[in-house]
Amino acid sequence: MPLKGFTINTSMNRPLCNLCKGNPAAVNYKLGAKTYYRKICASCSRKSRRIKEMPGWTKTGYKKKLTCERCSFVSKTPLQIFVYYIDGNLKNNTWTNLRCVCANCRIELNSAKTTWRESPLVADY
Ligand SMILES: [Zn+2]
Ligand SMILES: [Zn+2]
Repeated sequence: MPLKGFTINTSMNRPLCNLCKGNPAAVNYKLGAKTYYRKICASCSRKSRRIKEMPGWTKTGYKKKLTCERCSFVSKTPLQIFVYYIDGNLKNNTWTNLRCVCANCRIELNSAKTTWRESPLVADY
């Protein structure tokens, strides 16, 4: 493939950050003469690591229970309880679709064939 560089200024091909559209995107890695960029700039990637987006169910006022709704295990800390979407639809945040599940049941659920899906803690982009 011949390189047609005359219409493109190759020194200006650094993409802009997808989030702030102001800063140039951060360098991901270099391969030979080609530089690969991330989708966002360094300052946005630092920010997005700090501000973890909360899962959808937190916005509905749903609170983690300390009792596992599968085996009735009573946990001392909410860290041992995981929220599951029983229909597997992570956008269906109605309370009837949510279940609190303990760490033990989580292991069982993740290896069992169910529609239950664990709520992600951090949204990926
Ligand atoms: Zn940015
Ligand atoms: Zn359990």
